[in-house]
Amino acid sequence: MITIDGDFKGSMLGSGRVEKNVAFIELKKDPITIGYIEDHDYNLHFHFMARNDGDVPVNVKFCIGCNDKEDMNQDLGWLWIRNEDQEKYIKEEIDGRMLLPGKYRFELRIAPGSTFISNYIPMDHEEILESIREKALKGGANEISIGKTVEGREIKVFEYVKDKGSPYLLFLSGFHPPENDLIALEAIAEVLSEMNLKDGSRDHFNIALIPIVNPDGYFHNTQGSNTNGINFYWKFFGNTKKECPESHHIWNYCKRIKPIFYMDFHAFTFQGFEPRPYNIPPFIHDKKKRSYLQLKINRSLSKECDADYQWTHRFLLPVKIIAPNLISTGLINEMGTLVSPKFHMHLKYGMDGSKDLVKRCFKEILRILTDEGKDLRSDNKIGSNIRYKVIFGFNKLIYDIMKK
Ligand SMILES: [Zn+2]
Repeated sequence: MITIDGDFKGSMLGSGRVEKNVAFIELKKDPITIGYIEDHDYNLHFHFMARNDGDVPVNVKFCIGCNDKEDMNQDLGWLWIRNEDQEKYIKEEIDGRMLLPGKYRFELRIAPGSTFISNYIPMDHEEILESIREKALKGGANEISIGKTVEGREIKVFEYVKDKGSPYLLFLSGFHPPENDLIALEAIAEVLSEMNLKDGSRDHFNIALIPIVNPDGYFHNTQGSNTNGINFYWKFFGNTKKECPESHHIWNYCKRIKPIFYMDFHAFTFQGFEPRPYNIPPFIHDKKKRSYLQLKINRSLSKECDADYQWTHRFLLPVKIIAPNLISTGLINEMGTLVSPKFHMHLKYGMDGSKDLVKRCFKEILRILTDEGKDLRSDNKIGSNIRYKVIFGFNKLIYDIMKK
């Protein structure tokens, strides 16, 4: 007999029942976040256990968020699977179908005992955070807390400060728990721990790492929100401090350090994409030097991902990425920060492949800023960035026309 269970650490099961070797499963869901441009449904990820109480393997059809007949228009090519006697999740090619957001169907042969099934790589985030801490301290960083979450967990920052007057570079991750993108900051901490001893190229900058901006979400395995159901990547501004203390503390920290560069990491997990940056139009900045450096950074991140730098993105882009309620938009308009909002690794390349990509990108950014950005200072600004208003207005207009 096959049963479905979600009673284990890291589970993302809403409910599950089995009828004649067909398992019907519902995802554990977050509320949908009303964004500035569109609504954001992050109910995409599953992680559950199938238990076979018999002595022989059984073929099971899994229907997640769907029935066993409906049409699905995309392929689901792999899953991450672990049997009870294995230590690690192993990527297994499958011949599944999906319809996004949130519908999946596939068949698996379930061996006797417990099998853990997931469409992302389940990781122990506390273990990764510990590894980041170890590397950061070795690299000369201080660990500080910048405030507490809804449930009272601390938001940790690792600060590499050489000279308080030097400009800051800010890297963060950990908005959306199943993406486990804090491995990106682990990669950066690794580079910095090696650099500390022999390389002077970070002497011009202070560096701040925030590995988990959403600690409550990670603790509860939400799909992408804090515990009040707010996906504060997409709704960073516009929440009360009670609803989303996380964004308030992070913004206060930004106002304190005024970073000249900001980068935020995410990860694709099962989707049919390749790693890529979400580039913003360079001419959104109101100073020539910044536009020039933004263009350089955009191109170099695209190149590291083997993605074309799309010239159209200088003028036209998915407008949601420059919506006014995003942290990156706030940084551009209030402080003139160069940004890479939402850089996406792809976990299909595993942890090592993804970390290698991040290391290359990080070194490139450091090289570009060391060569030409040493004299950049944040503005105490602005609030009236005309270029932003024009570019956002234009992109929003096109978006509205295309939507009709
Ligand atoms: Zn994300």
